[in-house]
Amino acid sequence: MRDSQSLLHTLEILLKPFPHEKKSGCKNQACFGGFDKFVQEWGGKILLCNLKSHQYEWVKGIVNKVSSYSQWGIEERAKFVQESEDILIKLREEILLETPVQYLKGVGPRLAEKLARLSIVNMRDLLYHFPRRYEDRSRLENIGSLKRGETVTIKGKVLLMGEERTRRGKKLLKAIVSDGTGKITMIWFSYRGIKKLLPLGKDIIFTGRVEEFSGRCMIHPEFEVVEENNPHLNVGRVIPLYPSTQDITQRLWRKLIFQSIEEHTPFLYDPLPEFIRKKHALPHVSEAMKDIHFPSSSSSLRKARLRFAWEEMFLFQLGLFLKRGSFEKNKGRVLKGKVREILSDILPFSLTASQEEVVKEIERDLNSGKRMYRLLQGEVGSGKTVVALGASLLALKNGTQVAIMAPTLILSEQHYFNFLRYLSPLGYEVVLLTGKEKGKQREKILKKIREGKADVVIGTHALVEEEIKFSSLGLVVIDEQHKFGVMQRSALSFKDEFPHVLVMSATPIPRSLALALYGDMEISTLKEVPGGRGEVETFWIREEERERVYQFMREEISRGRLIYYVVPRIESSGKSELESVEDALRRLKFILPDIPIGVLHGRLKKEEQREIMEKFRKKEFHLLLSTTVIEVGMDVPEATLMVIEDAHNFGLAQLHQLRGRIGRGPYSSYCVLIGNPATEKGYKRLNTLLESKDGFLIAEEDLKLRGPGELLGFKQHGFSGFRIINLLRSTNLIEKVRKEVRYYLEKQAIPVTLLKVIEERFPEWREISLT
Ligand code: ADP
Ligand code: MG
Repeated sequence: MRDSQSLLHTLEILLKPFPHEKKSGCKNQACFGGFDKFVQEWGGKILLCNLKSHQYEWVKGIVNKVSSYSQWGIEERAKFVQESEDILIKLREEILLETPVQYLKGVGPRLAEKLARLSIVNMRDLLYHFPRRYEDRSRLENIGSLKRGETVTIKGKVLLMGEERTRRGKKLLKAIVSDGTGKITMIWFSYRGIKKLLPLGKDIIFTGRVEEFSGRCMIHPEFEVVEENNPHLNVGRVIPLYPSTQDITQRLWRKLIFQSIEEHTPFLYDPLPEFIRKKHALPHVSEAMKDIHFPSSSSSLRKARLRFAWEEMFLFQLGLFLKRGSFEKNKGRVLKGKVREILSDILPFSLTASQEEVVKEIERDLNSGKRMYRLLQGEVGSGKTVVALGASLLALKNGTQVAIMAPTLILSEQHYFNFLRYLSPLGYEVVLLTGKEKGKQREKILKKIREGKADVVIGTHALVEEEIKFSSLGLVVIDEQHKFGVMQRSALSFKDEFPHVLVMSATPIPRSLALALYGDMEISTLKEVPGGRGEVETFWIREEERERVYQFMREEISRGRLIYYVVPRIESSGKSELESVEDALRRLKFILPDIPIGVLHGRLKKEEQREIMEKFRKKEFHLLLSTTVIEVGMDVPEATLMVIEDAHNFGLAQLHQLRGRIGRGPYSSYCVLIGNPATEKGYKRLNTLLESKDGFLIAEEDLKLRGPGELLGFKQHGFSGFRIINLLRSTNLIEKVRKEVRYYLEKQAIPVTLLKVIEERFPEWREISLT
């Protein structure tokens, strides 16, 4: 600690001339002997202190650079002074805020351990432990007009105090308080240490609920003596209420956090650039930090919360751009032509209105000379692949190659056959590159790609991990299907090429979440599914009625239709009553004795899975008994019935995806949910599915039921970066932030200090990038 004290002291000295140097026009005169010499000398002293390695690099950079300060022009100097000052302020903040909480008065090892269990280790953690809600205790009521049942704040003097015994012999403390308008009795049943906090005759503020037991009273009210210089953390103002766990009292939270605010807020580094704060009237972090804990008014609280919402979203969005590297190489090849015309020449149907719209958006991107980076959202069957085909054709007509990546082997093959069907009659060569091709054959394919003879290359995401060299790559299509991808940046650049990128996602997610998660992309949405399909009806059948389902299954099979039968687990277990593949198979064989049944689950090898699905497609099986592994892209028009056992145990999005497997041909189709949900949530899930077919609405409902953390797959850690923002209700804000982030990145590179803050705030990034 002594070491950091002297470091802080040295830093203060070093920082002192910066504002003056700026103000006086960077004439190198802010210090006697020259600003540059001064920075070199005192920077050098800091380098001798105990610094973390990144901090050392920062200061080293400043000291090295400043040696040529005198030779620069004014503009370069001004930039350097500003950046260096920012770095030093951030450095000071780190030293202060990364101090362990034990250094606060009143925090001993036991409390520190409790705090650590809440992931509060240092001052920063404590400051960012925001209140969960607030209580307005700023309005004082007259004791004379109090009504029973109200929670109120009053100010009065203790007239009389004494201990009594209840009829059962328990001790209690009573104090009679008056404010001139009336009297009220304060009662405590356990009151160790309280008596001496209640001086007679002094003004005291009390907050509590008014009760009526032989006269008006409050039981265990909160109180504080009115004194000059007492900040009154617990009464007489808008009071923060913290998420309280580890039996740390509200009083203690307030005391600790207030202390930390007093000591540290003047020194906070503000990650929100000044121009954004000014433009959107957002307070500086130091001011907002005070107001979010101890608001001086409801409007300042509102501003503080808005500011931190901005901060969260700004950092998150910047992180996204960085993660995906999507802002680098903003220039794209101009691909000329009209997608729609090209498509209408080869498709046997006309585009839906949604497809038309999206195709136009893509066309505009590809024509523009900027690199396209677009997310195409739409449910399975909404015609995304057709749109991708159009974009691909445009790229091909312009003489470039196209790469198409899918998450699994089966889906790559499906795309392969699809594209082959349309493109080989036009004379384009389509190749499939997966892990299966080996040796000479593989070499041959790679050579074709390298020499530009292969026009379209289709494969799994592994495509990017290999040493594949293209001759001229114009477009990459990434089919993410049900994965919420935060694609790795490598996926966006094939070696030295920076092709246009179209990402397809079949998971409808609410607009706000899409904006947040894909903040660096443009978003297109296919809102409708092409007509001419059979309707899908959904039924919810109770356990007791399952005979009806079996009867219906027999009927569908006799019409030549196919059935998916989904259960939640592979093996039965003593612990759980959930239906398993094992049990279901036994039962189905009994119910449908002559029907060939295929069994599919995640423990089978990929190759076996593929074979079974293929057999189902060819109607060698009439029923496919499966866990949820059925591919999202599975397209079997004759499959008209989807039966889901213990349906309430599946996630809403998952159920919706499963339902999307049927209704893919011209026939009426049926989704049957079997289950007796035991929980409110399970009940709600099934009901939502019955009521709606709109994937976006369902996704929104899902988000409400589960929260974004779980939806995004990092439930274990919560989503620590978001403390304020409610992703569901922040569409407007997210759009504003997105715009500013783009503007910001166009103007400048991200400063190292800000990179550091992003790392501090979103440590989960390391995990998401791999999902
Ligand atoms: P997705 O990729 O979104 O799952 P696809 O592009 O594979 O959807 O389309 C699903 C099916 O619908 C395919 O058989 C496709 O040929 C057909 N299809 C796509 N667009 C249309 C349309 N506008 N009119 C009729 N059928 C269409
Ligand atoms: Mg598809």
